Amino acid sequence: MKENCLFCKIIRGEIDSKIIFENQSVLAFNDINPQAPIHILIIPKVHISTLNDIQSSQIELVGEMVKVSTLIAKDLKIAKNGYRTIFNCNQDAGQTVFHIHLHLLGGRTLNWPPG
Ligand code: 5GP
Ligand code: ZN
Repeated sequence: MKENCLFCKIIRGEIDSKIIFENQSVLAFNDINPQAPIHILIIPKVHISTLNDIQSSQIELVGEMVKVSTLIAKDLKIAKNGYRTIFNCNQDAGQTVFHIHLHLLGGRTLNWPPG
């Protein structure tokens, strides 16, 4: 946990969010500025700043984040039509919150390639 990290604050309940799923290691909540009808962020409960900082011992945790995104997609009935999952890493990808998060976007046709 990092004291002044926005997503650590959401995990601690210091900032409100619409929680979609939670277990011991992962939290999923609605993005505050949705870019699609469904836009959910899946985060680990331990603080990891960027994708570059993932340790070998955390591979299973990242796999769990991906698995959770697929279960949510199924739950929200977008699994069949399709959806997109994205990790933004650092400046060129536009990462703004430095606690890794998997974006789950769906509910409309998504353009490719992204900008
Ligand atoms: P990034 O650009 O780092 O990949 O994504 C950060 C995401 O966090 C953005 O989509 C942004 O809308 C979302 N976000 C920023 N602040 C908050 C907040 O306080 N609450 C929630 N639920 N989402 C946030
Ligand atoms: Zn954090």
